[in-house]
Amino acid sequence: MTDTVAIFWFRRDLRLSDNAGLYAALQGKHPVLPIFIFDIQILVRLEEKSDARVAFIHNTLSELKVELEALGSSLLVRYGDPLEVWKELLQNHQIAAVYTNHDYESYALVRDQKVQDMLVAQQIPLHTFKDQVVFEKLEVAKADGKPYTVFTPYSKVWRAKANETTLAAYPCEAHFDHFFRIQPLEIPTLESMGFQSSNRSIPSKTVAQNLIKNYDKTRDFPSLNGTSRLGIHFRFGTISIREKARKAGALNPIFLNELIWRDFYAQILANFPHVATGPFRPEYARIEWLNEESKFQAWCAGQTGYAIVDAGMRELNATGHMHNRVRMIVASFLTKHLLIDWRWGEAYFASKLLDFDLASNNGGWQWAAGCGTDAAPYFRIFSPMAQQEKFDPELKYIRRWVPEFGTAKYAKPIVDHKMARERCLAAYKAALKNEL
Ligand code: FAD
Repeated sequence: MTDTVAIFWFRRDLRLSDNAGLYAALQGKHPVLPIFIFDIQILVRLEEKSDARVAFIHNTLSELKVELEALGSSLLVRYGDPLEVWKELLQNHQIAAVYTNHDYESYALVRDQKVQDMLVAQQIPLHTFKDQVVFEKLEVAKADGKPYTVFTPYSKVWRAKANETTLAAYPCEAHFDHFFRIQPLEIPTLESMGFQSSNRSIPSKTVAQNLIKNYDKTRDFPSLNGTSRLGIHFRFGTISIREKARKAGALNPIFLNELIWRDFYAQILANFPHVATGPFRPEYARIEWLNEESKFQAWCAGQTGYAIVDAGMRELNATGHMHNRVRMIVASFLTKHLLIDWRWGEAYFASKLLDFDLASNNGGWQWAAGCGTDAAPYFRIFSPMAQQEKFDPELKYIRRWVPEFGTAKYAKPIVDHKMARERCLAAYKAALKNEL
């Protein structure tokens, strides 16, 4: 191929409409060749060969390819180490510029820097854009310019800044004639990358307006179909956060609040990257976790003898989803009742959740363990029984996932609630004694 092209590199923004980086590329001087790289460094870490997230990306790319081919272009998809793929791209194409959207995770930051160094060495500019969040990094900051670490004041400033301009869509469609014209290209098969298709069902991209309108009344009850299930689409950018935030603002402020939580945790990860490996508050690194392997296995399998915990873990194992209220309950149980390091739970969720997102998962786990930014104080320990009475009073959710509940077949509690509570308070107190 000898024509000079601009490359748009898709990552977690798998859509043609309202895509900030793609819009900029399409407005540039050169025709745009869109690419995607299946990153071997990420894929080798996935144990499940029928991982539904890989299959979801693959299906989405196939759909994008069809859309692009209808426009006379196609999608170049490679499998390998991104740096090696970029070397090959530089050899085979005349590249005038590269466009992509920001990724805030530490692995991606290092990778992107290496790619940028390689491009700069060849005098090729890399243009990057904010796309996966409404406000990034320090766009919503305190008066002194420092990042917020408490959600409520952050959310107030966020709301004040969200308007027709900041939430406006990027009209990519107006420039669709600027894709590079090319014969159809092949996408590597899942099998060629060591994966296979998955029969796990993926939630829809569209949500009934009524569900969002009633969200504040239904969202806390796991037996109801009361939340959007849009997580996976936000994660891979198959929907636009700006579009959903615009619509949510008009329909239900409580739903919008959840989207703000997503931005909040993304900026925490970007501004405090140490949270990816350890507690936001360093003193919590002193907690002496018990880390009993057999108890952890019982938790993973949904066999703790605490029905609401077991229902949640079984829902996760069977579907790749767990209701938010139940995520909080199982995370609290693992860290407080079993005194198991929150990073074990975080890693288990990362391997199972369809909507796994490092920033939100990490934020949720640190909140539950009490070591995070806007954390629940450690002495507030969720009682699984009280949570069940409040949020699943008719046992509908529990009976769906733990059919043997109430029979002799059901597991006995692996830990006594009262003892566990006191043990947890003592362990946290010992770790934080100089702080109190
Ligand atoms: P809805 O309730 O319909 O909310 C709409 C969207 O808002 C979600 O899709 C999500 O993008 C965002 N959102 C909602 N609640 C939160 C929140 N508390 N923090 C950040 N964003 C939020 N969310 C993830 O997207 N990925 C994760 O890996 C993840 N791990 C979590 C781990 C723990 C321990 C906890 C307590 C929460 C975690 N969450 C995570 C947040 C929340 O549980 C999920 O976003 C939500 O359950 C997804 O279901 P939904 O799409 O139906 O959400």
